[in-house]
Amino acid sequence: MALTHAVDKHIVQLEPGRGLLVGDSWREAATTFDVHDPGTGQVVAAVSDATAVEATRAVDAAYAAGPAWRATPPRERSDLLHRTFELMREDTDRLAELIMLENGKPEADARAEVAYAAEFFRWFAEEAVRTSGAYGESPAGGTRTVVTHRPVGVAALVTPWNFPAAMATRKIAPALAAGCTVVVKPAAETPLTAMAIARLLVEAGVPDGVVNLLPTTDAPGVVSTWLEDPRVRKISFTGSTPVGRVLLRQAADRVVNSSMELGGNAPFLVTDDADLDAAVRGALVAKFRNGGQACTAANRFYVHETVVDEFTARFGAAVEALRVGPATDPGAQVGPVITAAAATRVEQAIADAVASGARVAHRAPVPDDLTGYFVAPTVLVDVPADAPIVRDEIFGPVAPIVTFSSDDEVVRLANDSEYGLAAYVYAGNLQRAMRLGEALDAGMVGVNRGVVSDPSAPFGGVKQSGLGREGAREGLLEYTEQQYLSIDWADPS
Ligand code: NAD
Repeated sequence: MALTHAVDKHIVQLEPGRGLLVGDSWREAATTFDVHDPGTGQVVAAVSDATAVEATRAVDAAYAAGPAWRATPPRERSDLLHRTFELMREDTDRLAELIMLENGKPEADARAEVAYAAEFFRWFAEEAVRTSGAYGESPAGGTRTVVTHRPVGVAALVTPWNFPAAMATRKIAPALAAGCTVVVKPAAETPLTAMAIARLLVEAGVPDGVVNLLPTTDAPGVVSTWLEDPRVRKISFTGSTPVGRVLLRQAADRVVNSSMELGGNAPFLVTDDADLDAAVRGALVAKFRNGGQACTAANRFYVHETVVDEFTARFGAAVEALRVGPATDPGAQVGPVITAAAATRVEQAIADAVASGARVAHRAPVPDDLTGYFVAPTVLVDVPADAPIVRDEIFGPVAPIVTFSSDDEVVRLANDSEYGLAAYVYAGNLQRAMRLGEALDAGMVGVNRGVVSDPSAPFGGVKQSGLGREGAREGLLEYTEQQYLSIDWADPS
């Protein structure tokens, strides 16, 4: 798939410079900002740069559209989400090209993301019509309660660059299913995919003002405008823990309903009875999918001391065989990291680890002629358990390996983190794997699997990895508030 084709055809289709969807139309802002291909460092598009003024206009539109949208029958909302799912599926080539272009991930990863992202429209189309509540009798008698789930109102959705399609659909689909209208801010690195998805929603027939999209380089200005606006009743944020803390503080001022999908530091456990070939396959996916730039990425490997040499040799050989390249390279398995600054940060993390006693055991080759932001997939051994590379979220293609000698020890090491998003356990005995999984402080545990994401499962973290869940029934409930009607049921006689 040639990206020049994408630039010529699809970016023009997206009308660069007309990037703000507010109310009933796409509008141009006074200024634009550039979007880069991380695989080459080249500018691929100029996109409208929203300001706080447009942020308020977007809320005007979302607020005005709210009453009619929440009154729309669930089946109609469901049908719209179904149509969007079909349109996304039909548009897979274009969406994958956009993801490759602005995020840099290889084609297979980009296509997998489109499929995953589209599933949220299908899943929440199905959930939209399951409007269950509760009915109860008060213990003292004389009263009945009827509990309903009401849409929370205008929802502000803020997404990161690492999954430009899926992080948007995982929020937009449940919000619309619940009856909320939305104002969306995609990451400035990757606005094009979100724009394309917004266009598909319009094509599917979403009413004016229900979905508003504001690309911007002024994330603090736009998002704080939303959080200060009394008409905005919900913030759903996916991104780093430090920014999540800032937004939670701002949300506190008006007690805004908050869902936070934040950073991770997933431990990957390999016990002495694990199937090592399966563990290597899982480790490759858990670590190198998206170049390690996933909140669920395996960040630290804990391998039992009796199998660490064998695991490292097999894993290292597979890592050295990984093909690094831009998304235009059809054979590429690992793409660039998102920016030059990210590449420098990850290289520094490797250098610091080596300075603390770790050793680079394996590295994949990076072709000399690449001009983008590439970091060689790297396996580090002899890593001290308390090294910064183990404690911090790496967000790059680096696998530090730490050894352990007992299940108690590895649970203690794995849980010694402020994060608690995903974890992975490879063990031959399923009961042992389950026991280890249950002992881990993590919202999601892959048991003999290197991937945990699933639209039908409640995705989210514990500790400082976040609040709330996305996907599953729970993902829709994040956009609702309960109300109960307490009904006098006393016998009038
Ligand atoms: P980031 O926190 O820098 O940015 C995320 C979003 O917040 C972007 O849209 C950005 O423009 C915006 N933003 C940045 N500063 C802001 C501010 N002061 N006020 C308002 N908005 C602001 O994160 P990132 O670098 O884009 O993404 C990587 C991080 O996201 C990692 O920590 C990763 O673990 C996390 N992440 C978490 C999940 C999850 O589901 N838990 C999923 C994907 C990524």
